Amino acid sequence: MIQTDSDSSKRVAYFYNRFIGKFQYGKEHPMKPKRIIMAHNLIVNYGLFRQMDVYLIREAQLQEIGKFHDPDYIIYLSQFMSQNKINFVKEYCSANNESVIPENLLEEFKLIIKWSQQQKVKTENSEFKVGDSPDNPTFSGLFSYCQLSSGASIDCAHSILTGQADIAINWSGGLHHAKKKEASGFCYINDIVLCILELLRVYVRVLYVDIDCHHGDGVEEAFYLTNRVMTLSFHQYGDDFYPGTGQLNSVGVGVGRYYSVNVPMKPGMSDQPYIEMFKKITSRVMQVYRPDCIVMQCGADSLSLDKLGGFNLSIKGHGACVEYMKSFGIPMILLGGGGYTIQNVSRCWAYETGIALGQQIDQAIPSNDIYYDYYSPDYLLHFPIKQNVENRNKTEDLNKIVATVYDYLSHIENAPGIHFHDVPFSFYPDMDEENEDENKEQMDQKQEVSLNELEQELGISNSSKNEISVQSNSRKIYSKSQQQDL
Ligand SMILES: [Zn+2]
Repeated sequence: MIQTDSDSSKRVAYFYNRFIGKFQYGKEHPMKPKRIIMAHNLIVNYGLFRQMDVYLIREAQLQEIGKFHDPDYIIYLSQFMSQNKINFVKEYCSANNESVIPENLLEEFKLIIKWSQQQKVKTENSEFKVGDSPDNPTFSGLFSYCQLSSGASIDCAHSILTGQADIAINWSGGLHHAKKKEASGFCYINDIVLCILELLRVYVRVLYVDIDCHHGDGVEEAFYLTNRVMTLSFHQYGDDFYPGTGQLNSVGVGVGRYYSVNVPMKPGMSDQPYIEMFKKITSRVMQVYRPDCIVMQCGADSLSLDKLGGFNLSIKGHGACVEYMKSFGIPMILLGGGGYTIQNVSRCWAYETGIALGQQIDQAIPSNDIYYDYYSPDYLLHFPIKQNVENRNKTEDLNKIVATVYDYLSHIENAPGIHFHDVPFSFYPDMDEENEDENKEQMDQKQEVSLNELEQELGISNSSKNEISVQSNSRKIYSKSQQQDL
């Protein structure tokens, strides 16, 4: 392993729970949560694991999810909790009286009981777009899956806000298509929006950068009306490519005008023009917007050979964008996202974990990795990109896009509001300073109740019963500074 930059002293917090990789959208569904376990295995086997603080992801609570999502939608989704969790909660509640249930979990426990008593579980609801299309099926433990993914992203924000990390990573997050009350594009709960809302409790300006092949529509929509968050999405656009939004002229509305930035491209985009355009635009955005923190969605379906995306990036090209954003030296959160050729997704996110740590990892895939066979025939980290792919983006067209984005950004530069003196501390009414200390304190709490037998219901074998626990915050299970398991 080679040290690649002098700034390897950055504290990196890594959020993981192997349960998240065990959920299944369905045999034929392109979204395979297993890729998270594969990435994790590479991270462990490359020796990156022990250079970070490692947190065992906890489930986000209903109240936390409710900071963005519609209550009816959450209640609807929450019926898709696993039967074993329902059994556990029932047992817990009968064996203990309510007073011993942690207060912040009481509402959730009551809801579980309520749903379990109703017995009848709806499988479709056209309003919420869950289960009525192949994209967003219902499956066992669906809600737990959403809670884990979003719990991790929320705690990424906590680890940054409490100064425990400079860079926080959640490869199971980045589900950028989910809307306030609607599932979309394999996404149900928008962990990114929840993460950014946490950051806004302290930070004035948050920059969201999205390099997934698809437009980051859910995040853009959530913050379309505000200047507290700038959303910047690089994506494939046209020919009915999903989701069909993210035109160059979608720039935000009202106070948020010019704080949504879209970079639509045609298929075939390769490293050199992509990186060039990425740097030109992000450098100007950083100069003009001066964010306090960066949240980066690192969707890996922009890589060459992806089953759904049409770009032709290499892992090095994709990673160069992460490295460039890291070079600005402000707090950063790295999230996953799309990525449907799973052996390339895991390669990419292991490589980018190395970038976060300032470590260049070996080209040879560690031979002890249990998914080693997936990396045939070369068993190398960097796979060869597709040859003879036409980049349908002409240089002059890309230059025009950059010029237009610069023009939009010039409106911000000249706007009197740029210094944000008039922006109140709290953008969201229920987020006030008083709660801040309390929230920071929660980071250290280890209020925890083991969820036994959950694994059985999820069809998971050989896993520790402690891997999912009901707790207020993700539990630190390895501390880099102490060099020991906790
Ligand atoms: Zn995507």
